[in-house]
Amino acid sequence: MHDCSSQQLELKGSIYCGLGFSCDNDCILCVANVSEKHENMSTSDMIAYFDRIIENEELTIQLSGGEPTLRNDFLYLIEYLSVKGPKITKVLLSNGRRFSNMDFTAKVAAFPPVCVLVPIHSCEPGIHDMITRRPGSFNETVLGIRNMLEYKMIVIPKIIVNKLNYKLVPEFVEFVAQTFPECRAVGIDTMDLLGSAGANKEALKVKHTESAPYIQKAIDVSLKYGLHVSVIYMPFCLLEEKYRKFISPDQSIVMYKDPRDERVEGNLTKERGTVDACGGCKYLGECPGTWYSYFKEFGYDELRPILQ
Ligand code: SF4
Repeated sequence: MHDCSSQQLELKGSIYCGLGFSCDNDCILCVANVSEKHENMSTSDMIAYFDRIIENEELTIQLSGGEPTLRNDFLYLIEYLSVKGPKITKVLLSNGRRFSNMDFTAKVAAFPPVCVLVPIHSCEPGIHDMITRRPGSFNETVLGIRNMLEYKMIVIPKIIVNKLNYKLVPEFVEFVAQTFPECRAVGIDTMDLLGSAGANKEALKVKHTESAPYIQKAIDVSLKYGLHVSVIYMPFCLLEEKYRKFISPDQSIVMYKDPRDERVEGNLTKERGTVDACGGCKYLGECPGTWYSYFKEFGYDELRPILQ
């Protein structure tokens, strides 16, 4: 079943690596749907996979899950990647809860990822916990971020914009700036309506044209505090011109949920982007467009191709 080849994979850009499928949250907006049961790769399979990518010099590996820090061998795996693949850039995607344990945080900080992306679903604890479906998760995540910052780790809190929180995106940025002054950046992500998010889409989906004014206000708040801000997968044409530079360009990410997935061999999945309705827009090639799951839900009527 698993290809144990030791042949090196030559990769550039970013790869998304699902380290483990379990999670201590059960977010209604999770694209992975952690309640589906998958078997994690064993430690030795994981190491065999790392050995195949370890020579790459221009590679970022996004360690995700589920919640990757829940693996019993998590500390071993990040130490292995750090020591054997020092040229690889490690980014960790985590709900932050395990970092509420200071001892665990100290151990990760010995082999720190270049940054840790942590979702905070709202500055209102009740909304965050409603989205994670885990009471108390907000407090643990906040403590986890606090601990990582104590150890000088770089943390980027991010919000995944949906119907339950879009009006509070500016307050989210204000909260980050006030609570974690050491943070230098925040992320504002649009939502992919797959997995649990797809199953709960009626409660979550919001049109980009509705959330855009709040995202623009949130950018203003970021600028007030000198915070770097990245908006992910929002079409250029849906923000006013002065805000478009805060939209991240499309990244070439090899998307796969599991290194056993044969797509890692080079067949990229395309899950988002611009579409035929963009016509002759001058931003084609630069604009990231948005999620295809979003277009499937709302169509293309919001797009306003910019011709000159
Ligand atoms: S029309 Fe398409 S390419 Fe142009 S800004 Fe909108 S989404 Fe981007």
